[in-house]
Amino acid sequence: MPSRRALVTGGAGFLGSHLCDALLGEGYTVVAFDNLLTGRLANVEHLRSDSRFEFVERDVCHPIECGAVEYVFHFASPASPVDYAAHGIETLRVGSYGTFESLETARRYGAKFMMASTSECYGDPLVHPQTESYWGHVNPIGPRSVYDEAKRFSEAVTMAYHRYHKVDTRILRIFNTYGPRMQLNDGRVIPNFMGQALRGETLTVYGDGSQTRSFCYVSDEIDGIVRLARSSEHEPVNIGNPTEFTILECAHKVMAVTGSTSTIQFEPLPQDDPKQRRPDISKAKRLLGWEPKVDLESGLKLSLDYFRKAVFGDQAQSA
Ligand code: UDP
Repeated sequence: MPSRRALVTGGAGFLGSHLCDALLGEGYTVVAFDNLLTGRLANVEHLRSDSRFEFVERDVCHPIECGAVEYVFHFASPASPVDYAAHGIETLRVGSYGTFESLETARRYGAKFMMASTSECYGDPLVHPQTESYWGHVNPIGPRSVYDEAKRFSEAVTMAYHRYHKVDTRILRIFNTYGPRMQLNDGRVIPNFMGQALRGETLTVYGDGSQTRSFCYVSDEIDGIVRLARSSEHEPVNIGNPTEFTILECAHKVMAVTGSTSTIQFEPLPQDDPKQRRPDISKAKRLLGWEPKVDLESGLKLSLDYFRKAVFGDQAQSA
C-alpha cells in the first residue's frame, strides 16, 4: 500500500520542521516547501537522508507543484514580531497568495488542509482568557497588522474554501510556542532571554514586564497539532499552554534555569504589544482530549542544550 503523503509549507521553520518529524513518525511521506526567508536548512538536516522526506526550496506564493498529497499543512510565514516587521510585505503575501495556493493544492488533490493561525488573531485582547469565539481587538494598520491581518485573512480564505469548495479544512491557533530550533536572533522573548542569560548579558525586558504570555513547549504544541489534524473540526481551535506568566517572571525563570546572575534592563514597549495573552483550551480538551504536559521550567530545561549550542557552538558543555 503506498504511504500517505503530506505537504508542509514552511517545513524548514521552527514549528514546521518539528511537524515534519511528527508526520514521518505517523507514517507519512513528507514534502516540505520553504523559501528559507526565515526557515533554515539546519532544521531539516537530520531528515535529508530519509527517503520518505523531500525538501523543495520554493516560495509558496507561486503555484505549488508537489504531486498528489493527502494532507496540506500551511505553516509558511515569518512568525516572530522582529521577523514580520523586517519582512512585512512577504508576510502579507504568504498569508494571502500563499494561503490561496496551499488551499488550491488541497482542492486539486482532494487533500485535507490545516491552516497554522495564531493567537495574534485576538490582537491586544479585551477578553481574557481568549476563547475561540472572541473576534479580537486588532489594529488593522499598526506595525503588527502585516502578521495579524494576514492570519485573519488566511482564516477567512480557509473557511471560504471549506464552505464554497468543500475542502476538508482545520484552523489551528498557536500560542507562544518555544523549544529547540528556534532561531537565537529571531527576537522572540525566550531565545532573547536564553541567549542573554547564557552570555552573561543583561536581559532586555520591554515595558515594565507586567504584560503576560502563556508559553507552550514544542512537543505539547505538536501533539495538539497531530490530534487536530486527525479530527474533523473546521472552526478554529486554540492550542497553547494556559499557564500565564508576566514577562518579568519569565525573565526570572530563564535566569534560574540557566544559573545566570545577569541583571534586568527595562526597554521601551513596542507599539501594540498585547498586554495579556492566555488561551482558553476547553475546546481542545473536549474535542481532542489534549492538554499540555510540560511546564515552563521543564521546557526551558529541555531547551537548554540547544540554546547552549546555538550560543557557544559545538564546544558547549551539556548540563
Ligand atoms: N519581550 C521582552 N524582551 C525581549 C523580547 C520580547 O520583554 O527581549 C516581550 C515582548 O514585548 C512581548 C513578550 O515579550 O511582550 C513576548 O514577545 P515575543 O516577541 O516573544 O512574542 P509575541 O507574543 O509578542 O508575539
